[in-house]
Amino acid sequence: MQIGERTVATFHYTLTDAAGKVIDSSDGRAPLSYLHGAGNIVPGLEKEMSGKQQGDVFNVVVAPEEGYGMPNPMMIQVVPREAFQGVDTLEVGMEFQAQTPQGPMSVAIAKIDGDEVTVDGNHPLAGQTLHFAIEVTEVRDASLEELTHGHVHGPGGHHH
Ligand code: ZN
Repeated sequence: MQIGERTVATFHYTLTDAAGKVIDSSDGRAPLSYLHGAGNIVPGLEKEMSGKQQGDVFNVVVAPEEGYGMPNPMMIQVVPREAFQGVDTLEVGMEFQAQTPQGPMSVAIAKIDGDEVTVDGNHPLAGQTLHFAIEVTEVRDASLEELTHGHVHGPGGHHH
């Protein structure tokens, strides 16, 4: 059976950056399941999964535009150090939940310059070319319930 509309595919993956550093991997964990055509995974990877079948092993290079997008300069802001009351030591890379008019947003400290703290709300992988090594372990028909919900149920998916 081939991966296509209305199928659920299960796969192992290793994600590396352009320098070959591992960013994320299913190695040592259960493989990931997703509902094909529902936008559960980044568009560039979903496109390449189409037509593959159980046992297929392949590599996919995904440009930022088809991955997590390009960084949005609007998501980067400089705030005064006083904004972090109750935090003893501020460090680059620390993550916070910021309250915005659009709701809570995850931001990371990108730079600290005296009393000025630069926070970045972009996805950590925005602007990055993604290198996936994929192994398809299972392909099956999606259930009606999964198609209605737009995600996978059971192992590797949602439990509810
Ligand atoms: Zn559901």
